[in-house]
Amino acid sequence: MNFNVLTIFPEMFVPFWEHGIVKKAIDRNLISVSTINIRDFAKGKHRVTDDRPYGGGSGMVVKPEPLANAIRAAKKTSPSLRTILLTPQGCSFSQKKARELAAEKGLILVCGRYEGVDERICHDFVDDEISIGDYVLTGGELASMIIIDAVVRLIPGALGNADSADNDSFSDSLLAHAQYTRPRTFEGEEVPEVLLSGNHQQIEEWRFEESLIRTFLKRQDLLKERLLSEREIEILKKWCRDIEKIIHAQSVFGSDTLSGNK
Ligand code: SAM
Repeated sequence: MNFNVLTIFPEMFVPFWEHGIVKKAIDRNLISVSTINIRDFAKGKHRVTDDRPYGGGSGMVVKPEPLANAIRAAKKTSPSLRTILLTPQGCSFSQKKARELAAEKGLILVCGRYEGVDERICHDFVDDEISIGDYVLTGGELASMIIIDAVVRLIPGALGNADSADNDSFSDSLLAHAQYTRPRTFEGEEVPEVLLSGNHQQIEEWRFEESLIRTFLKRQDLLKERLLSEREIEILKKWCRDIEKIIHAQSVFGSDTLSGNK
């Protein structure tokens, strides 16, 4: 997969290409990356890429001509690549979107700056507008890196373990289960016994239940958009019964139910 980033700050990407999974994916030829400096397409001695907004108001706007020419240059080498503008006004980036993008041959990512880019670029030069969240950054560079990072780890072979991405949070509208590593006791807290049992079926069941309950506690919105299986309904009912028992005991016997008061 080919990532081509259009930016006025290409140097921001140098350390990004040189670390972690992204670097490994480059080294294994799973992805190729390049940046195009929008300023190289700006005219005049000072190669200005921004100008004042028509109609007045504060801030500057990315000029359309250098950006359009930078996009044309990127498309010249790879005409079929999907062109994405990073903007807080775009559709929300998600794991689902990351999967969709990972199936592309490549992406041209256009980073805005200042008060954003001239609207005519949005109309005529981009296929998609993507936001990484409901907040405003100073530029699209960090947003591009977030998208590239999320997409690269979904490319087959990018992660060491082929299963890793499938078990991640949001893969099946569930959060991933809790993880533990050595030492067995850390500051008085023990690793759950079942994880030390070596019984793979029990471990799988514990992880599944853990994942479901953690999603219920942290992100009920994900469960609401998910068709629950019979097994999942049973697990939630069991938790419901356990919670009811605690409430019932407290309401009938009050604080006498607490072991410290016996
Ligand atoms: N005035 C614009 C608005 O209110 O919609 C915000 C412009 S922002 C200061 C400058 C650039 O940062 C944008 O053109 C975009 O490329 C990038 N950016 C800012 N927030 C973003 C977000 N949440 N997602 C993606 N890109 C973002």
